[in-house]
Amino acid sequence: MIARIRLQPEAVGLGMTGQRVRDRLIERLRENGIRDERVLAAIRAVPRHLFVDEAFATRAYEDTALPIGHGQTISQPWVVARMTEAVLAALPAHGAQAPAPKVLEIGTGSGYQAAILAALGLRVFTVERIGELLRVARKRFRTLGLDIRSRHDDGNVGWPQEAPFEGIVVTAAASALVPALVEQLAPGGVLVAPVGGAGAQSLLCVRKDAEGRIEQSNLASVVFVPLLPGMVD
Ligand code: SAH
Repeated sequence: MIARIRLQPEAVGLGMTGQRVRDRLIERLRENGIRDERVLAAIRAVPRHLFVDEAFATRAYEDTALPIGHGQTISQPWVVARMTEAVLAALPAHGAQAPAPKVLEIGTGSGYQAAILAALGLRVFTVERIGELLRVARKRFRTLGLDIRSRHDDGNVGWPQEAPFEGIVVTAAASALVPALVEQLAPGGVLVAPVGGAGAQSLLCVRKDAEGRIEQSNLASVVFVPLLPGMVD
């Protein structure tokens, strides 16, 4: 795990994108309750500055959301970490032999959250409604050598052909849980999604047990861009 990311030569440097600023971000995430070492290692390894416009590269290792164009944002690292932790906690340990668990992300955006999941050795499927954002994200996946399946579609329908998923991460806020996504969750799986209105939302963690029963908890108060219907180029 983690080794899948192509080495970034500049990551060893001392600049605003180098190892020192990344280590500071990891410390900050720890202080704010992120405990899973696998998640912290993935965040240290994935070059977040390659997922934002050059103009924002020097701020890429601050624990803050940043604009990515089209009125959208790359999520705050703490939120990415918390969502990833919640999904990982539910997954069975997978060895070299067993196929890696499948995780679906709704809202590719910059591609950062998908890259973190892929760095953890998961089989990642991601759906984005804005074609231009998806094209740029796909280029990043290629540059970093990440094997991520992506699709230009309305994420409200999920990805039924690939279901069920052991984990689902929704990175845009809806007023209620999306039924198609809950349906595409495998028994024993976890779906993490921000639910609520424009101001602030609850980050819900929905667990489906072996019998298909749903149990939900509230992980945090968060602010996400809205989950919108339809697709645009
Ligand atoms: N996970 C992203 C965060 C992107 S912000 C990252 O790591 O950068 C949320 C994204 O959800 C936006 O790109 C937005 O276009 C997308 N989105 C909103 N509604 C959607 C829908 N119905 N289907 C797919 N993507 C959607």
